[in-house]
Amino acid sequence: TAAVLSGRELAAAVRAATADEAAALTAAGTPPRLAVVVATADESSAWYVRSIARAAEKAGIVCDIVDLGPGATAEEIRVRLGELSADDTVHGIIMQTPLPAGVNAQETALAIAVAKDVDGANPVSLGRLAAGLPAFAPATAEAVVRILEHHEVPLTGRHVAVVGRSTVVGKPVAHLLLDRNATVTVCHSRTADLAAVTSAADVVVAAAGRAGLITAEHVAPGAVVIDVGTNPTPDGGLVGDVDAVTVADKAGALTPVPGGVGPVTTALLLQHTVRAAAR
Ligand code: NAD
Repeated sequence: TAAVLSGRELAAAVRAATADEAAALTAAGTPPRLAVVVATADESSAWYVRSIARAAEKAGIVCDIVDLGPGATAEEIRVRLGELSADDTVHGIIMQTPLPAGVNAQETALAIAVAKDVDGANPVSLGRLAAGLPAFAPATAEAVVRILEHHEVPLTGRHVAVVGRSTVVGKPVAHLLLDRNATVTVCHSRTADLAAVTSAADVVVAAAGRAGLITAEHVAPGAVVIDVGTNPTPDGGLVGDVDAVTVADKAGALTPVPGGVGPVTTALLLQHTVRAAAR
């Protein structure tokens, strides 16, 4: 049965290092500060924002939730992001999704200063990442790679299949993996034979947002499977994109949901914020 690639231990280590850096910055007169811009009444989004705020507080990072309400216009959100970008006391900016209907996330995120773009939401950050220039990667994409490195999964020369091509996860994770010399195949909703591609891979990264998409037939014996999906269940729980019961019998290792990519993502957002404050 597959080894469990927990993210909790790595997340705790990142949080501890971040708290030390935050304390040093605060002692030096620069308390690190994160602003989370919200423009939705979505309940799961509110839950996520509260969890970031709690984690920030515990790490000694000031966290401002800037709630513009679900009726905010694109212009209002851009202006607020611009003000926060110009505010020297703010070091990190997160633009929470979903945004109000009709507001384009990529266009709006252009208003986040790249130096404060701790969740890699500005398309300029993604472009810099692709070009090999310093930039913050989206925290979820970075979390995938950090978990693989933490558990010493070799990447050089290995075939990684990424399922999902979003700007938030699939595309940036593909770039981060290329930078580690993996051979990367990016699959998506129009991929003709998903199982044929993923079952030929040494590592599968599932980021489609479809519960149960990845079954045993999608996975090679002994492969490493990273489950990025977070799909709500009717009873208020959370499941990934991987059918954990059948895949665990075949894969070599698998991240749990919850307790895998999620906690590392939150920890990295905070780490990015203290790094931004230190500059
Ligand atoms: P998205 O909806 O923007 O993108 C989904 C991608 O999956 C698309 O590129 C689509 O082509 C692909 N896809 C959809 N159905 C498919 C199918 N049947 N076969 C192959 N590919 C398919 O979603 P996203 O923002 O990239 O998020 C993906 C998942 O990751 C979601 O479950 C989301 O909740 C989760 N997520 C988790 C974290 C975390 O911290 N753990 C953070 C961000 C997103």
